Amino acid sequence: MGLLNKLDNPYDGGGFVLARVEDVLNWGRAKSNWYLQFGLACCAIEFMALNASHYDLMRFGCIPRSSPRHADLIVISGTVSLKMAEVIKNLWEQIPEPKYCLSMGSCANAGGPFWEHGYHVLKGVDKILPVDVYIPGCPPRPEAFFDGMVKLQAKISKQAIFNKRKRIAEEDAKLGLPTY
Ligand code: SF4
Repeated sequence: MGLLNKLDNPYDGGGFVLARVEDVLNWGRAKSNWYLQFGLACCAIEFMALNASHYDLMRFGCIPRSSPRHADLIVISGTVSLKMAEVIKNLWEQIPEPKYCLSMGSCANAGGPFWEHGYHVLKGVDKILPVDVYIPGCPPRPEAFFDGMVKLQAKISKQAIFNKRKRIAEEDAKLGLPTY
């Protein structure tokens, strides 16, 4: 009975928890990735399987968003044609900071089967936006995607977000830009 009471109220008896604010914020950010899915070719079909009940991507805290302004992660899955590259860049610029990018599959990573003769294909989405994690495969299996997701979450949970803001503010001040 005493144990059950403790579980009901773990702070009973003056207990306390210590943590850095940054760690708590990063814990929340790493476990709640709101993503904008940009499916371009066959890899996107594999991504659909990820969202179905068998693989259940939502258990990682990933929630699909239809607007870049509501997202903090973009997933590029498939062949990035030169025509679509401009659209992707526009969407990326609308995602508020801090934001992340997962590149899913050989095409998004480096042009895939089109890397040599695909005159119409961008040879890697990292030519137009910063990629945080590359997921290899043609197409990657859902398990490979989860591996990439876990790597991204580990990266987010170690980020120095306050220092980053301070650094951006210092760079803005050097350029004479207003700081927020
Ligand atoms: S990496 Fe392979 S499976 Fe994925 S979009 Fe390119 S050709 Fe299709």
